[in-house]
Amino acid sequence: MTNDAKTRLADVRDAMARVCKTAGRAPGDVSLIAISKTHDADAIRPLIAAGQRAFGENRVQEAEGKWPALLAETPGIELHLVGQLQSNKAEEAVSLFDVIHSVDRSSLIAALAKAQAKTGRHPRCYLQVNIGEEAQKGGCAATEVPALLAEARAAGLDVVGLMAVPPADTEAAPYFALLAKIARDNGLTQLSMGMSGDYEAAIMLGATQVRIGTALFGSRG
Ligand SMILES: *Cc1c(COP(=O)(O)O)cnc(C)c1O
Repeated sequence: MTNDAKTRLADVRDAMARVCKTAGRAPGDVSLIAISKTHDADAIRPLIAAGQRAFGENRVQEAEGKWPALLAETPGIELHLVGQLQSNKAEEAVSLFDVIHSVDRSSLIAALAKAQAKTGRHPRCYLQVNIGEEAQKGGCAATEVPALLAEARAAGLDVVGLMAVPPADTEAAPYFALLAKIARDNGLTQLSMGMSGDYEAAIMLGATQVRIGTALFGSRG
């Protein structure tokens, strides 16, 4: 399995570098977050051994179960929360994660601010935008971004950019382009967009962080 992980990581990094070159971007412009949700520590360790340092999870509780031990083994790992966050989990999230990609409403901003004050930790944050206006999905409306951004900053959150998950089963590129425009309009430079099936398009359209699970770990079964 160790060799598998190594090969997959090298393949994804090669593809990212190739697209960066095509897009006229420096390879270092785009960072890779390995999304390890549903995979256990034994599946994660080979990627750490291969040099990967940024990892993402979508559930606070699952991350609390496996990451403290992994973090103790290897210094310098950066942990990202990419899934919906309930306000009552804000303190646990702030305590464990270095970056939170799913800030999308006033009540959560207030809870995160309180958690920051209590823990003394200040994770970098992304505002999540519901870019396809899908009823079941997290994220704020595109029109809410300026007000939420102002509110988050006033509350002391370190908002660095925007995150989105485009609608499934449709061409993602127009949504990536739209997210990039909203970020530009709001003076935000970081764009968390692109997953296993569409990260090349995302990089072409300005992604600065791609979140990749399946292409690194294999299918989640
Ligand atoms: C699971 C997940 C990913 C990774 O998806 P893959 O298709 O497995 O690469 C990226 N972003 C979010 C928010 C996710 O929940």
